[in-house]
Amino acid sequence: MGSGIDDLSQAKRLVVKIGSALVSEANTFRSAWLEQLAADIAFLRSNGTQVILVSSGAIALGRAFLGKTPPKKLEEKQAAAALGQPVLMAALSNAFAPHDIVVAQALLTLDDTENRRRWLNARATLETLLDAGVLPVINENDTVATDEIRYGDNDRLAARVAGMIGADMLILLSDVDGLYTADPRTEDSARHISHLSEVTSDIERMAGGINQDAAIGSGGMTTKLAAAKIAYAAGCTTIITQGRETYPLRAIIDGARATRIVPPLSPDKARETWLRSHLNPKGTIILDSGAVTAVQRGASLLPVGVSDVIGQFERGSAVALKDPEGTLIGKGISAYSAADIAQLKGLHSDAAEAILGYRGRPAIVHRDDLVLDKV
Ligand code: GLU
Repeated sequence: MGSGIDDLSQAKRLVVKIGSALVSEANTFRSAWLEQLAADIAFLRSNGTQVILVSSGAIALGRAFLGKTPPKKLEEKQAAAALGQPVLMAALSNAFAPHDIVVAQALLTLDDTENRRRWLNARATLETLLDAGVLPVINENDTVATDEIRYGDNDRLAARVAGMIGADMLILLSDVDGLYTADPRTEDSARHISHLSEVTSDIERMAGGINQDAAIGSGGMTTKLAAAKIAYAAGCTTIITQGRETYPLRAIIDGARATRIVPPLSPDKARETWLRSHLNPKGTIILDSGAVTAVQRGASLLPVGVSDVIGQFERGSAVALKDPEGTLIGKGISAYSAADIAQLKGLHSDAAEAILGYRGRPAIVHRDDLVLDKV
């Protein structure tokens, strides 16, 4: 129960990343392949798997409009992305339409996953889209992201998203079927690695050398392993495989060759471990006794259960949670600043909007962002 999953058919929340070379060819999108991918995603969704798609290809699809192949300067790439992104979304929208799946576009920048305040917003939006049954399609916001503030490759972006939404599986579809001990194109002795339960420095060295240029697009094997490490820390299994197969996701279920990197912890356990060890409280929230019981039963902390707030902190900060006697009961990430909590304490969530002048989150600390001290 506590460890990462091995099988795609077990996935509850899945992030699928598709690379530029799969999405586009000769400046146009590969509609037949996208239709097969859509059929596979429809099939997984009908089995109860929630899916998020991270799609590259905006720059590849947009560059033809600029008449430059390939765009070199940053602003040319950014312009190409601005041109290609709607083409990409139209192609995906058409591919999913026969399955009655509506697509939603979310363009993220590095800050949306690295800054905890923005991370809370991006996560809430993605959760809302998933609840609404639509298919979120994510890409980097290439048009505004500059080198210092870019993920640069969608492998790592996909892994960050997987961690943010507690996905239990990340599939990186590219043009190689996984990791090898040597370059399979030149060395007969090259052995395919089908399973890893750890990403060691030896493995990273392997990816940095012989496998490095094994993929087209921005992400070679190095970035795939970097992505796998990010996912691993979040309790999310990564599958690196060849996407050119017909029906590429069913192919995985049917045993297509792939490298699986399986973490020892599930997303829930990994998050709990992370919350326990990484949060350095910037302030304290005092709960009333009703709220103590509620959070100990697994509920979120609502404004009505807060009797006091101590210290100055911003939205997205770590906070200590204490009972009316001042005993520490746990810690979590606050969805409100200390100043806002001071105004909201003891009130019903509905009253918050009128008081703050904006509609915030219903919970002060969401149950997913809360870890209790062992009693
Ligand atoms: N965001 C880029 C695009 O849509 C792709 C990045 C990558 O290849 O990983 O064109």
